[in-house]
Amino acid sequence: MDKYSRVAEMLSAKGIKIFENEPLAPHSTFRIGGAARLAAMPDSTEMIIDAVKAAKEEELDFIVIGNGSNVLFSDKGFDGLVIFTRSADSVVIKGNRVFADAGAPFTKLAVTVKNAGLTGLEFAYGIPGSVGGAVYMNAGAYNGEASQVVASSTAYDDLTGEVRMISKEEHNFGYRTSVYSQNKDRLTVLSAEFELKEGDSAAIWETMQDLIRRRREKQPLEYPNAGSVFKRPQGYFVGKLITDAGLKGYTIGGAQVSEKHAGFIINRGGATAEDVLRLVEHIQNTVHEQFGVSLECEINFKGKR
Ligand SMILES: Cc1cc2nc3c(=O)[nH]c(=O)nc-3n(C[C@H](O)[C@H](O)[C@H](O)COP(=O)(O)OP(=O)(O)OC[C@H]3O[C@@H](n4cnc5c(N)ncnc54)[C@H](O)[C@@H]3O)c2cc1C
Repeated sequence: MDKYSRVAEMLSAKGIKIFENEPLAPHSTFRIGGAARLAAMPDSTEMIIDAVKAAKEEELDFIVIGNGSNVLFSDKGFDGLVIFTRSADSVVIKGNRVFADAGAPFTKLAVTVKNAGLTGLEFAYGIPGSVGGAVYMNAGAYNGEASQVVASSTAYDDLTGEVRMISKEEHNFGYRTSVYSQNKDRLTVLSAEFELKEGDSAAIWETMQDLIRRRREKQPLEYPNAGSVFKRPQGYFVGKLITDAGLKGYTIGGAQVSEKHAGFIINRGGATAEDVLRLVEHIQNTVHEQFGVSLECEINFKGKR
């Protein structure tokens, strides 16, 4: 029996759903990518730990994926275990504190807390990620970001094999970065605690409606994409730099710089990861040549090129 079969057997024995040669494209908002040799769908945070432990024990490469809204999976897929957190999605509200498992959808969380009369997560409405992905990325929009409301999180540290409480300060949040992204492949977000304030549900809803309207107006939501491709360089707007470089609508294969918002790359149909990566490089080179600005990719590439 090889290591893949051993991991599959271990996880099945724990009641974790496991799939072989699972296509990754349907699991990413880009709709791009090859297949995962193994994919696990744990239903709880305990099961997420079991899956990480099994991969470590058998020295199998693994990645943890929330809603796949900020990833580009390789055309070659992933020759290891992809652990999807989506089914570990419990949410508990205690007063103004909200405890959410890693797989809970960020947008749905915004609605749940709004219904409970809690304010602070309005910005999350329309961010199509999970709680785990939002903490990892310090997701944010319209002057709000995860760092403002995350009070703590629990992490599985696969170096020590322990579950750790990460305090607010320990997150070391920065622009689209946290202790999780700074320690790639070591820490898995299991859950997060949010500290919110009491507010008026109707007013909160009004703000959320305004934010979603602005998203629909500006973002190419009619095509598969993975959000903003690049981090915002200080003093510049990415969309304007790319537009001024004459790259709006520029296309490589099925990947295109969105005509609606040049900060987005869209999958016009049949785009490969290679198309996207080549387009990213072309944009970076052109913008650097014309304006001397280096654009850093925000999207996480997973697998081998
Ligand atoms: C239309 C659209 C609009 C968007 N708008 C915004 C926006 O306004 N603001 C913004 O910040 N982002 C935005 N994004 C990007 C994306 O939604 C966020 O970055 C989101 O937080 C990613 O969450 P996810 O669960 O999809 O993460 P994934 O794409 O699944 O993963 C992203 C990274 O986090 C890691 N990760 C995920 N879960 C865990 C976990 N439990 N433990 C450890 N690592 C983990 C993955 O390995 C990967 O490296 C947008 C994307 C789209 C498609």
